[in-house]
Amino acid sequence: MEIGLFPRPSEVYDVVIIGGGPAGATTALYTARAGFRTLVVDKGLTAGALGMASKIVNYPGIPGPLSGAELVRRIRDQAASFGAQFTTDKVLRVDLRSEPKQVWGGRGTYQGRVVVIATGAMGRTRHIPGEERLLGRGVSYCATCDGPFFGGKEVAVVGNNDEAVEEALTLTRFAARVHLLSPTAKLAVSPELASEASDHPGMTIYNAAKVREILGEQHVEGVRFVFQGEERTLPVAGVFVYLQGNVPVIDFLQDQLPTGEGGCLLVDENFQTPIPGVFAVGDVLCRHLKQAVVAAADGVIAAMAIDRLLRGRKKLRPDWS
Ligand SMILES: Cc1cc2nc3c(=O)[nH]c(=O)nc-3n(C[C@H](O)[C@H](O)[C@H](O)COP(=O)(O)OP(=O)(O)OC[C@H]3O[C@@H](n4cnc5c(N)ncnc54)[C@H](O)[C@@H]3O)c2cc1C
Repeated sequence: MEIGLFPRPSEVYDVVIIGGGPAGATTALYTARAGFRTLVVDKGLTAGALGMASKIVNYPGIPGPLSGAELVRRIRDQAASFGAQFTTDKVLRVDLRSEPKQVWGGRGTYQGRVVVIATGAMGRTRHIPGEERLLGRGVSYCATCDGPFFGGKEVAVVGNNDEAVEEALTLTRFAARVHLLSPTAKLAVSPELASEASDHPGMTIYNAAKVREILGEQHVEGVRFVFQGEERTLPVAGVFVYLQGNVPVIDFLQDQLPTGEGGCLLVDENFQTPIPGVFAVGDVLCRHLKQAVVAAADGVIAAMAIDRLLRGRKKLRPDWS
């Protein structure tokens, strides 16, 4: 989903928010409404915890049932109605100490006076045999960055969410064939995106495929997986992995922020990290309670503190509107 204009590379936003789930999108709703130029960079609607949840019935004021993706879409639309811009991109690297702060994605570079980290806890540890060893030698997490290296070659994409499917479609521009290995019987994407993938002549989809190993010595030479009860090997030159797990998504921070147990981020009572102007909200934080309304509430508190910081005020102004 892309709401608003694609950001201009030279533009310095007041607030750049990484992650557009309930935490990030609610932060955007409040900062945009307060008049701050706000950009949300998000890698995919169904790539987050709420975006992948099939049925929500406990979000206050929304009796539901409705899908988590629909709830996220509504919060994003509400934020966009106040002027927040959204762009689809995966953040790969940041420089949180520069002024303005720099955020690099696969598709562009974004600059903000304030950065908010709202990337959730759907990250994973590298657990496919061969994945760690062959990282950067055929194993990748970014088709936009590495796709051109695979011109005329066959590649595999492992995943089922819209990030995986969008990246697989991107790869069809370069690769001779893209094999999409979905861990589930059905792709977790909109019917339109599912049809675009299944109708694409350059793509083969294997539903309910269980990846066993990425093969190769110096570089990727194949992928071994179980499909329809049979073990198969595909001779691919690249494997792009977009699986989800349950660890905080902080890989792009490259140790610029201190973490607690399990890699969660530490913040003060205003959701500010130890780096001034860098905030973190939602499931990426060190906290057991993971609920959409809690993540959204973090966003409100952070937005109030951001308002104070950017306007140079010491005291929090009560906001009843
Ligand atoms: C299966 C399931 C069911 C659930 N059911 C409920 C429920 O019924 N009720 C409830 O209240 N809560 C439920 N939860 C919990 C709730 O979904 C989470 O607490 C909430 O979504 C956390 O919000 P968040 O914004 O912090 O993270 P997320 O919702 O995970 O959003 C993070 C966002 O960051 C983006 N992102 C991540 N990495 C990057 C990157 N590098 N670059 C750009 N974007 C990135 C993702 O695309 C995603 O949109 C459920 C969770 C799961 C997994």
